[in-house]
Amino acid sequence: MKIIMVGAPGAGKGTQAKRIAEKYSIPHVSTGDIFRANLKAGTELGMKAKVFMDQGALVPDEITIGMLMDRIHEADCAGGYVLDGFPRNIPQAESLTAALSGSGEAIDYVVDVDVPDENIIERMSGRRTCPKCGASYHIRYARPQSEGICDACGTALIQRIDDAAETVKKRLDVYHEQTQPLIDYYSKAGILRSVDGTQDMEKVFTDIAAILGD
Ligand code: ADP
Ligand code: AMP
Repeated sequence: MKIIMVGAPGAGKGTQAKRIAEKYSIPHVSTGDIFRANLKAGTELGMKAKVFMDQGALVPDEITIGMLMDRIHEADCAGGYVLDGFPRNIPQAESLTAALSGSGEAIDYVVDVDVPDENIIERMSGRRTCPKCGASYHIRYARPQSEGICDACGTALIQRIDDAAETVKKRLDVYHEQTQPLIDYYSKAGILRSVDGTQDMEKVFTDIAAILGD
């Protein structure tokens, strides 16, 4: 199964994508995570991406599209994947559609995790992430067992630079201008399904699983 998660930054795409990946035994492919892993490893791609990420802007398509295409052509993606954070604009979506149709493939579902802007700031300002394993927490809604420490690997949690309030506002603008048109694009393709992302995480996942089936 090939799935795309769309939604505002902080809507819960990553949280739900991880659970989808587990349930359906497919890889969770997050372009944001790939950029952050590159940055941590000190690669040229990571350095280039950081400039845009820190400003809340999109990393240019000439970097992002090729990187995503390489990833989905790796062996573990042969049985499907859940994309989180890609596509983020119409040119990226068109590139993906063209690449897949060239090999007789298509995306099965696009899941829109719908959360209004007024909830986003609280979601993002409370998010804490593990710099080592990438696990994500929230100071109110998804607390680690021991405050400030990753349950999975014991590393001290951090707040992402791009989760600062000013940068979140910029990311929301970018979302409305460039990413939201994807809702119309995939709706016209007949594969868009929306879930109410303001519900608690369990309920959001139940709704998504009902869409995707067993
Ligand atoms: P995205 O991948 O869309 O940027 P995340 O999955 O990282 O978003 O979620 C953003 C923050 O909101 C995280 O701190 C996460 O723990 C929290 N969160 C995710 N889903 C919910 C939810 N349904 N209710 C409350 N908080 C949530
Ligand atoms: P995320 O982890 O999905 O919130 O992404 C963090 C940042 O990485 C974004 O604000 C962008 O700067 C960059 N990014 C992630 N995915 C993409 C994409 N598909 N296109 C362009 N930039 C991206």
